[in-house]
Amino acid sequence: MAKADIVIIGGAIVGSSIAYFLREEGFAGSIALIERDPHFTCSSTTLSAASIRQQFSIPQNIRLSQFTLGLFRDLKARFGKDADIGFREKGYLILASEAGREVLQHNHGVQQAEGAEIILEGPEALHSRFPWLNTEGIAAGAYGLKGEGWFDAHAYLNLFRRALRERKVDFVAGTVSGIAVTNGQATTVTLSSGETIETGVVINAAGPNAGRVAAMAGLSLPVEPRKRSVFVFEAKDRFDDMPLLVDPSGIYVRPEGSVYITGGAEPHDADKAAGPEDFEPDWPLFEEVIWPTLAGRIPAFEAIRPGRAWAGHYDYNTLDQNAVIGPHPDMRNFFFCNGFSGHGLQQAPAAGRAIAELIVHGAYRTIDCAAFGYERIAENRPFRELNII
Ligand SMILES: Cc1cc2nc3c(=O)[nH]c(=O)nc-3n(C[C@H](O)[C@H](O)[C@H](O)COP(=O)(O)OP(=O)(O)OC[C@H]3O[C@@H](n4cnc5c(N)ncnc54)[C@H](O)[C@@H]3O)c2cc1C
Repeated sequence: MAKADIVIIGGAIVGSSIAYFLREEGFAGSIALIERDPHFTCSSTTLSAASIRQQFSIPQNIRLSQFTLGLFRDLKARFGKDADIGFREKGYLILASEAGREVLQHNHGVQQAEGAEIILEGPEALHSRFPWLNTEGIAAGAYGLKGEGWFDAHAYLNLFRRALRERKVDFVAGTVSGIAVTNGQATTVTLSSGETIETGVVINAAGPNAGRVAAMAGLSLPVEPRKRSVFVFEAKDRFDDMPLLVDPSGIYVRPEGSVYITGGAEPHDADKAAGPEDFEPDWPLFEEVIWPTLAGRIPAFEAIRPGRAWAGHYDYNTLDQNAVIGPHPDMRNFFFCNGFSGHGLQQAPAAGRAIAELIVHGAYRTIDCAAFGYERIAENRPFRELNII
């Protein structure tokens, strides 16, 4: 039987970040980072919209993203002078109708208190800032002057993976199929190959599959895969000042090089767990909902050329659409870092560091993540994020 002091299940951005910060915090023991899909063809990390924002509704989420922003600013010092993730700091523009104005204003207050450079503007100011925008039905918009934008998810993941190679982390290619529990502690992880790894700590970084991985240890975690489609299109007009725009309908659009990507607006009543193999983009959603809405909001998008599309899975926390970070209160050597519900790419470094601090120092040192703890799940006490895109 193989042995590892720490086993991390899932080697994409969350698992890699945890391993990276364990070493940064001085953990010298053995780490096995287990990944079933070594090219990350189906991971949320590589299928995401790869964007970062400050515009959340609760301070803790803003702090997690601000930590990552600091890491972006510090990339070369941390990962070497060739480190580049193509960060385009173009902002988010979140639009609200009259019905959503109060929430937008409230969120803006929270963001300002956290030092985020977000401005709130009415329809006229928005139109003169972005003349291509139709502000009909818009009561207000919140626009990020700094600290928001998009980047290359593959390059970002590769930076962490490359750093791990120099930090003696064992990359194990395999699928975890079982977790043995002895005297209330997770003790052995079994792979579908039959191989077993004895361990002192198990960390669940399995993204949309985290609910199933928790169940292997007999634990309940309300995280399931929810399919989200992303559509690429071309348009004749290019708007170099265009932020990531979120319409009141929930539909988002942003430039991606010479094209645009768009998504959002999955119907609430039909939103349910996706089959683990279902990566088929929802084309009717684009044709019947997204495109007509976009053409109304940005008249230049009435004539577009649709391109390719893909679908990924949100690591969706059905209780409150927020991360679950920290140990299980009764199985203290089983840690969760799951349920980011569409904002995990940008929060992975902060969450990874938080888990590393707990394991190495026994307490959070950089950002207090206690509010994200599993206790709220056990007590059915939602800690809700309102800005889910
Ligand atoms: C369409 C879309 C758009 C998104 N846009 C954004 C965005 O703009 N900004 C943002 O911050 N976030 C965004 N997200 C969310 C973000 O991608 C995720 O929250 C984040 O990538 C989660 O990282 P992860 O490492 O936990 O999960 P994943 O990237 O899914 O990685 C989990 C890994 O665990 C592995 N695994 C699972 N089960 C097992 C097992 N039993 N054995 C071994 N390995 C296993 C998987 O193969 C996978 O590689 C988006 C997601 C989607 C789908």
